[in-house]
Amino acid sequence: MYIKRKLNESLITFKGLRFGVKLREKSSHRYRVTVGIGGNVGDVKRRFEHLYMFLKRDKRVELLETSLILKNPPFGFVAQDDFLNSIIVLKVSMQPLAFLEYLHRVEKKFARKRSFANAPRTLDLDIIFFENRVIKTPRLTIPHESWSKRESVTIPLMDIKR
Ligand code: AMP
Repeated sequence: MYIKRKLNESLITFKGLRFGVKLREKSSHRYRVTVGIGGNVGDVKRRFEHLYMFLKRDKRVELLETSLILKNPPFGFVAQDDFLNSIIVLKVSMQPLAFLEYLHRVEKKFARKRSFANAPRTLDLDIIFFENRVIKTPRLTIPHESWSKRESVTIPLMDIKR
């Protein structure tokens, strides 16, 4: 069950039991990371719920917080369904590259199919921030390159309480 709010003609937010919540911190891990999640194929809310359960059970990460879910139109290749996006905050002890690999394994587990740039996707996981580190390598850019230009990131991010 979600509480739905229309922001304008194209943007809708959803708050639920698992999205738009802050969890009790156990501080079992070292680094605070902000991850953007998105998808636009099939039942994305259900997939987000499964991801939430998976992350809560996985000892390699500690789930601290989730933002509301934002429904927003696609950019780039526009002839596809709207996207659902959210932000999750985790604590991890992995270094950034190891964490990126971890996220890729999670994407695979949730059956993401990579086809072409900006194509429809089941689950996309991006590292937005990793502590306050700045990284610019061919495999990893942190903070995420276009985070501040995308409503799909900035609107859910505003929902995260610091
Ligand atoms: P995408 O298809 O949008 O998920 O982008 C995939 C590639 O972007 C990954 O294989 C990463 O090597 C690269 N990448 C660069 N910076 C980041 C970041 N901050 N978070 C996730 N992927 C990143």
